[in-house]
Amino acid sequence: MQIQNDTSHLPYPDLAPFPRLPVHAVHVPWLDLGRVHICVLRADLCDPLLSGNKYFKLRYNLAAARLSGHDTLLSFGGAWSNHLHALAAAGQRYGMRTIGVVRGEAGSVRTECLRDAEALGMHLHFVSRSTYRERHSAEFLARLHDQLGPCFMVPEGGANFHGIRGCQELLSPELAAQYSHVLLACGTGTTMLGLISSIRTPVIGIQVLKGTGYLAREISAGLLRHELRALADWQVLDQFHRGGYARVDAELLDFLVRLERDTGVALEPVYTGKVFMALQALIAAGQFAQGSRILVVHGGGLQGRRGFK
Ligand SMILES: *Cc1c(COP(=O)(O)O)cnc(C)c1O
Repeated sequence: MQIQNDTSHLPYPDLAPFPRLPVHAVHVPWLDLGRVHICVLRADLCDPLLSGNKYFKLRYNLAAARLSGHDTLLSFGGAWSNHLHALAAAGQRYGMRTIGVVRGEAGSVRTECLRDAEALGMHLHFVSRSTYRERHSAEFLARLHDQLGPCFMVPEGGANFHGIRGCQELLSPELAAQYSHVLLACGTGTTMLGLISSIRTPVIGIQVLKGTGYLAREISAGLLRHELRALADWQVLDQFHRGGYARVDAELLDFLVRLERDTGVALEPVYTGKVFMALQALIAAGQFAQGSRILVVHGGGLQGRRGFK
């Protein structure tokens, strides 16, 4: 019985190139005091349903699943998972069955996000929080396999080689070269791994989960594990999570309302919102030379805004 599919050695079938993402300049004097130039890479606009970096993380996973003869993809997430939402959409679009293993009891976590996923054809399999913690263990994955049948397993957040591979195409080296820094939110660090192994512009990752230094170590380990070379200088800043993953406070929400009003760019508070707050703090602390050209990656995930009404 094969559970963890190692398909990284397989050639991918021919795929259409990813869409070219628009870049929009942002002029907000109260954010940057006119000291730096800020642009946003609008991955949120790449597709109406398959939004943001999740599209880039999933596409080669779908290809790998097909290549290894699977018609079903299974992955993991919480009740507001952008990843499960995008996986459901991808499955529907590309004619693959999808299963979402959801953290929480069915009755208590039926969010709009999960209702969308079901409407897109995803089968939801709810597990308790304690069971969910076993999601990396071989026994748990074997049990899922017995219960749900053969499937191509995508790790939570699309955090595997295929995910990194897709994120290497998020930003072309030529476009990146027009900027002095690239800023993005880091959950699993998969998107960061794709960027630092494909562009030469320095990359700053804003860690959105609590924990000192752990993600930088995981990214270093990921480079080794996948035999990737970091072309760019990179660093992960771990002090901007504002209390932890998906923790939101009045100051953050107020900041986002003002930023949206002044830029016309819709933002969510879990990822890209925290990146912009971090950016403001870094500029105020003099971390960027006058005239720096900063490209902020908008990771999408706007469906999750419905959880913060
Ligand atoms: C999932 C997600 C991220 C985190 O991406 P990683 O590759 O896991 O670091 C960032 N922004 C948004 C909007 C996301 O949905």
